[in-house]
Amino acid sequence: MAAAAVQPHVCQNCNASSETFAFFCRSCGAVMDADYGIATHFDVLGLEPRYALDLDGVDKAYKDLQKQLHPDRHAQAGERDKAAVEAHAARLNEAVATLRSPLRRAGYWMELHGVRILEDDQRMQDAEMMMEVMEVSEQIEDASTQVEIDELVRHNNEKIAGVEASVAELFSREDWAAARPLVEKLQMLTRLGERMNEWTPS
Ligand SMILES: [Zn+2]
Repeated sequence: MAAAAVQPHVCQNCNASSETFAFFCRSCGAVMDADYGIATHFDVLGLEPRYALDLDGVDKAYKDLQKQLHPDRHAQAGERDKAAVEAHAARLNEAVATLRSPLRRAGYWMELHGVRILEDDQRMQDAEMMMEVMEVSEQIEDASTQVEIDELVRHNNEKIAGVEASVAELFSREDWAAARPLVEKLQMLTRLGERMNEWTPS
């Protein structure tokens, strides 16, 4: 990413400054201000920025930080620190929710690269994709047991992983034009997955 003039993050406790954001001062360990500047979701988690993410790495970073930001660990802290810790936990959750989702991560990755995502009215032009959505929708409607739904979810997740891998490849080449319809497909599959998760036996 382009090197812009970065406002350093200054520790209110020891005055140490750092160009990159961390929840706790790297010098004295004090809680930093909830002032994230241009810190990305990747920065927040201390991860290398890349679309093809290792989710185990995301989860590990998340759990470590979540532990450090747990309210119990700051029960004796002053009001300012408590408020900062609360804001940090929210910022952390936002980062993880975005990066864990192949779809949201794709949108975020394009945003970071200044690439526009499709507008709503530009979507669903692909007849083949619409057929697939209709077909899977029927399968969801026709399902009568959780086992059937689980099977649909498994199959849908396989499709998502396949599209995610293709998107990662195209993103690495910055081929945004080719990636867009696949991101659209990722969106359709994600929506179908949500409908599967919402399914209850009738
Ligand atoms: Zn400090």
